Amino acid sequence: MSRSAVRAAAARTGRIAWVHINRDALRHNLERVREFAPGCRIMAVIKANAYGHGLLNCADDLKAADAFALATIGEALLLREAGVSAPLVVLQGFADAAELALMAQYGLQPVLHQLWQIELLGSLGAGRLDVWLKIDTGMHRLGIPPQHVARAWQRLQTFGVVGSVRLMSHFANSDDVTSDYNNKQLESFISVTSDYDAERSLANSGAITALPESHFDWVRPGIMLYGASPLQQRTAAELGLEAVMSFQSRLIAVQHLRKGDAVGYGGTWICPQDMSVGVVAAGYGDGYPRHAVSGTPVWIDGRVCPLVGRVSMDSLCVDLRGSGAKPGDRVVLWGEELDVDRVAAHAGTIAYELLCHAG
Ligand SMILES: *Cc1c(COP(=O)(O)O)cnc(C)c1O
Repeated sequence: MSRSAVRAAAARTGRIAWVHINRDALRHNLERVREFAPGCRIMAVIKANAYGHGLLNCADDLKAADAFALATIGEALLLREAGVSAPLVVLQGFADAAELALMAQYGLQPVLHQLWQIELLGSLGAGRLDVWLKIDTGMHRLGIPPQHVARAWQRLQTFGVVGSVRLMSHFANSDDVTSDYNNKQLESFISVTSDYDAERSLANSGAITALPESHFDWVRPGIMLYGASPLQQRTAAELGLEAVMSFQSRLIAVQHLRKGDAVGYGGTWICPQDMSVGVVAAGYGDGYPRHAVSGTPVWIDGRVCPLVGRVSMDSLCVDLRGSGAKPGDRVVLWGEELDVDRVAAHAGTIAYELLCHAG
C-alpha cells in the first residue's frame, strides 16, 4: 500500500467528531448587533481564533464590521498577511519597544492599559498610530486608574507619533442584568471621559443587548456574534441570535445493559433498570467538556438524550431509554438543535470556553 493511499484512508476514517461553521448565521448575528446598537460603529472581537470559529474565515464573513479586535499582535499579523486592511485593535497592546515598532509598521492600534506603555510611545521615532486608552472603571484587570487619565491624555497629546486617541473600558458583570455594578462602571466611565473630545467604547455583548446607555461610539461584540447568549437571564433565541458552530458526531455503539451495571470510568453511573446505553464518538480530546455531568443533554437524530457517566477522551455514553437510536445516527453535541449555553451550564462553565476548545 502506498503512503498516499494510507494518508487518504486515514483522512476518510479519521476522527468522527467534527465542527461545522454556519457562515450565514455569523452574518445574521452581526446584523443583530446593528439592530441592538443602531448608528454605532462595530469592532468585531475575533480573538482566540474567533472564539474557536476560525480567524481568517470569520474576518472575511464579518467584513461589514468597522474594525476587528484581537488579543495579540500575532493574531493581527496573521490578518495583515492574509490581506486584511481593516483597522485592527490589539487588546493587550505591546509589551516592549520591538512590539511597538511592529504595531507602527503594520498599522495596528494598541490598547494602552499601563502608564509605561504611554511613556514608551514617546520614544518611538517615526510612524503614526491610532491608540485606545483603556480606563479601569472597576474590572481591575487591564486599565489605567481614573485618577491618572488626565495625565495620560496630556502626555499622548505631546507625542507626534500618536494619531487619534480613543477611550474605552470593560464591564466585569455585563452577563448579569440585575447587577448594579454595571451602572457603577457606566457612571465612572461617563464622569472620567466626558471632558475629552474623543470617541468612546464600553459595551461588549452583554451590554450591547441589555444596557443601551453604554453603547457610545463603538460597540465591541464577541460572544453574540457566535450565537451564544451573553446574558444569564436570556437565551440566544430570545435575543434573536443564531448558533454559528455545530459540533457533531455519530453514535458508534448501542449496548444492552442490565439493572445495576456501572457505565464508564469510575463506574459513576449505575443502570436503574435493564436498558440501552449509546456510545457517541466525541470526548474531551475533541473539545467536549470532561466535567459535563450525567444528565447533560445530547441531541441524537431528533431527540435529546441525557449523558451518563464520565466523559472519556474519545467517547461519551448516553441514556437511550425511549429513543430507538441506532449506530450511525447523527449526534449534535451543540449547535442549532441544542444550545451551547445549556451544555455549558451542565459542565459548570460558559459557552466561551466550550467554543474555544472545540474549535
Ligand atoms: C473579549 C472582549 C470583548 C468581547 O466580549 P463578549 O462578552 O464576548 O462580547 C470586548 N471587549 C474586550 C476588551 C474584550 O476583552
